[in-house]
This record gives sequence, C-alpha cells and structure tokens, in this order.
Amino acid sequence: MRITVKVGTSNLTHATGRMDIRRVESLCKVLSDIKNAGHEVILVSSGAIAMGVGKLNLSKRPDDMPTKQAAAAVGQSELMYVYDKLFSEYNHTVAQILLTGEDIHDEKRHENFANTLERLLSLKALPIINENDTVSTSEISVGENDTLSALVAVSVKSDLLILLSDVDGLYTADPRTSEKSELIPFVREITPEMLSFAGGKGTALSTGGMATKLGAAAIVMRSGIDMFIVNGANPEILYEVLDGKPVGTRFQGRKNS
Ligand code: GLU
Repeated sequence: MRITVKVGTSNLTHATGRMDIRRVESLCKVLSDIKNAGHEVILVSSGAIAMGVGKLNLSKRPDDMPTKQAAAAVGQSELMYVYDKLFSEYNHTVAQILLTGEDIHDEKRHENFANTLERLLSLKALPIINENDTVSTSEISVGENDTLSALVAVSVKSDLLILLSDVDGLYTADPRTSEKSELIPFVREITPEMLSFAGGKGTALSTGGMATKLGAAAIVMRSGIDMFIVNGANPEILYEVLDGKPVGTRFQGRKNS
C-alpha cells in the first residue's frame, strides 16, 4: 500500500515548542517498520515554525510574516536533521520536499513534483513534505498541512491518508469543551452538521483543526481514497489502522462502481 501520513505540530512538540523526543522517536520507529513491511510511506510533517520558535527562544508563535518565515527556516532544518538521524538508525533514507500552493495548482510544476515524488518512492526513499513556509506568503500558500497532505495523497494516488491528531477522531461536538460529545467511527458522507460541530483551530502553536481535517477528507474521498483521523499520542496506533482495527474516524473514499 501507498500510505500518506500527516503529523501535526501538536504531535511533535511540547507546549514550549521544543521537540517531544519520545513521540518523534516512536513515530520514526513505527514508520520505518511499516516501510520494512513493504508499504510505501510519504510523511507530511508540520512543526517547522514551532521548532523555530523553540530554537530561537521566542516567547510565542510569531504573528508577523518575516518572523514566521525566519522561524520556519530555523525549524525546518532542525526537523529534517532529527528525521534524518532517527530514520537512519533504521536504515531509511529521507528526502525533503517543500511545496507552496503554486506547486500543486500550476499544471507543469505539479507534474514536476509528482514525478520527483514517484522517483523517490521507486528509490525506496521516504519523502518528507512540508509547506515551503520561508517563501510562501498568504497569496500562494496552501496554509496548513491537513489540506496539503490531502492534495499530496491525491497527486501520488495514495491508497490511504492518515492524519495524526491530538484528539481521537471526529466527535459530535468539541471533546475539549463538551462532555457529551461522542466519537464518530465511520463517515461515508460529510454532512453540513459535521461541519458545524467541527470547531475552531487546535493549540496555540498549530494551524489546523477539525474543520481543515474535514476539508482534507472531502478532497481525498472524491478521489476514492480512504482517510483516517486518529490520535497520534502513541504512533503505534498506525499498526492498528493498517490491521483494520476500529480506531479513530474512518472516512470512506467514494468507489466508482
Ligand atoms: N507548515 C507549518 C510548519 O511546519 C505547519 C502548518 C500546519 O500546522 O498545518 O510549522
């Protein structure tokens, strides 16, 4: 199987913006094992800006574009350094791809990126994708990695998109504020009601939220790709997804009959 996994800032870092080493080590180990089992893995990883915030000792996530871009420049290299080091321990070679919205929407650029990705997979490398935050301004950026991972999954005809989140899946209400919320295990169609209870964005350092995850689901489901939202607190949950265990929320891709 060709699997795209998206990992969010809140999965990779502590609230300080510094790396959650235990979590990242576990993620790299599990993804290496999944590759060893014969699957192709594409990782869409956030965390550049947050790690830059940590490394530059900034007090909070910056609001202005130049500082955000500077933080991303510092954090992206830190992120790749760590991934390279940890995946190397399991004999896997990582490859960095940084994209903007233009690389997805412009036909020629899209073809270039899709060809590179295909080649990397045939060379058994592990592509690690992020938005090119140091150069992408609001006009040309995708904006967050839930959408980016869905666009990538469609571009490379992934069989599966797995979004690692800081909640267990899609709930009937925001589980952080409502005690009566219930997990929705299976979604065949995204309803206006689901969009209404998807809530706002996640933590102080991250960008996405449930609304962008539903947007990502809509993109991949149209292309017949299944998507899961699962809690990334323990990356071993990826084994459960691949074993067909009922975890998180599964969005079923539309199959053409
Ligand atoms: N590209 C951003 C980063 O690496 C994250 C975008 C997102 O959180 O979705 O910090």
